[in-house]
Amino acid sequence: MKLITVVIPAYNEEKSLIYMFKRLNMLARNNPKYNFEFLFVNDGSKDKTLTLLQRESEQNSRISYLNFSRNFGKEIAVAAGIDHADGDAVVIMDADGQEPPELIPDMIKWWEKGFDDVYARRKGRRKGESRFVRFTSWLYYRTVQSMTRIEIQIDTGDFRLFSRRAILELRKLRETDRQNKALFSWIGFKKKEIEFEQQKRAAGQSKFRFMSRLHLAIDGITSFTTAPLRLATIVGMIIAFAAFIYIVIVIFQYLAGVPRSQGYSTLLSITLFLGGIQLVSLGIIGEYIGRIFNESKQRPLYLVEHFHRAKLSKNAQPKAIIKENNGAVAKKLDER
Ligand code: UDP
Ligand code: MG
Repeated sequence: MKLITVVIPAYNEEKSLIYMFKRLNMLARNNPKYNFEFLFVNDGSKDKTLTLLQRESEQNSRISYLNFSRNFGKEIAVAAGIDHADGDAVVIMDADGQEPPELIPDMIKWWEKGFDDVYARRKGRRKGESRFVRFTSWLYYRTVQSMTRIEIQIDTGDFRLFSRRAILELRKLRETDRQNKALFSWIGFKKKEIEFEQQKRAAGQSKFRFMSRLHLAIDGITSFTTAPLRLATIVGMIIAFAAFIYIVIVIFQYLAGVPRSQGYSTLLSITLFLGGIQLVSLGIIGEYIGRIFNESKQRPLYLVEHFHRAKLSKNAQPKAIIKENNGAVAKKLDER
């Protein structure tokens, strides 16, 4: 029987988890042709999330969970899930119930037809999202897309199914400042879009404030492209060229004896303008240097405090991995 691992990052989700367990169990019950493993990644929650996971895993053999040593952020939590998911296919979804697990059988269907990345695109507008947020995110993706050859999936979160081979490739990407969406686009493979209506959070509230979204947006740009660096060069060249023309004009005016006025305010505004551009350019360079710095430290992406592996029945063990890697992973399976 094929194993589907559902990876679910969870940070302070004690209120949502109960609904989540119910819906996931329903999913497993309604699709007996597949074996399901639900791999939660507890991202340093400060509430009872871990206790709930422990308790559920005692009576539910499908539950696996990773407990981080502290909060590492959602992008890293998803990466850890990808590292530890042994399924023939791996689904990633949020813990808050905004993404319906009921869509997973549909994803599986497309995966069985040979797709490697079945991603769910939000239909219509996001609930509780202002016009401003929608506009900026539209503008953002348009801009980033124009700077890269990699195709970006718009209106798509992390709710996706990956084939085994896509997961194995994703595991090789070890960058620290990561935006998963960029990596998911980067690997390519056969992608299939399906649509879904995003639901309200089951409980609790969104953990992403404006600033963390901004950071994620900047990470997105830097992980997709180095085009902003070139932009600084191009803007610099344009301004230098304009300045050159202007100097030539001034010299000619001087030689021709054209009277010239004292341009104090012009001078000031141009100086400020250029100062601004220089600071922005430095900032852009700084963003990339900061990333070089972070990557050069070569720290592990995350630290695991405890890993509880679901006690799946023998016939549920994914044959794919045993074939792929007779050594290490097969041994890991034996330890279960
Ligand atoms: N999350 C996480 N670590 C964090 C923040 C969030 O693992 O530091 C998880 C969270 O538990 C949820 C998912 O990431 O399962 C998405 O978070 P949220 O619903 O707050 O974001 P939104 O849906 O508003 O984008
Ligand atoms: Mg959410």
